[in-house]
Amino acid sequence: MLIHTSEVGMSGYVKPEVVIFLIVAVSGICGGWMAANRGRNFIGWSLLAGLLPVFLLVIYFSRPLCQVEGKFRSCPNCKEFVRWRAVVCKNCRHELPPLQ
Ligand SMILES: [Zn+2]
Repeated sequence: MLIHTSEVGMSGYVKPEVVIFLIVAVSGICGGWMAANRGRNFIGWSLLAGLLPVFLLVIYFSRPLCQVEGKFRSCPNCKEFVRWRAVVCKNCRHELPPLQ
């Protein structure tokens, strides 16, 4: 019984530069995507996260710059940003208006 190894290439192993490129590309796209969700610059953050994956954590824990539809909205009581689908503000426990 033969096992096809065509997905790892003719030589049967993945080149290290391909692995590095994939890591850079994936972390760059993740960083840029999270940045865009927070109203920040996609290109800038994808470059930062691609070169230094530690920026993935930075952007993950950073506050949104503005309200992003479907991602974050601001609490009408304390102006803190909360998840778009949140029912109660995590900061001040104010009940949020229902989504249209
Ligand atoms: Zn609040």
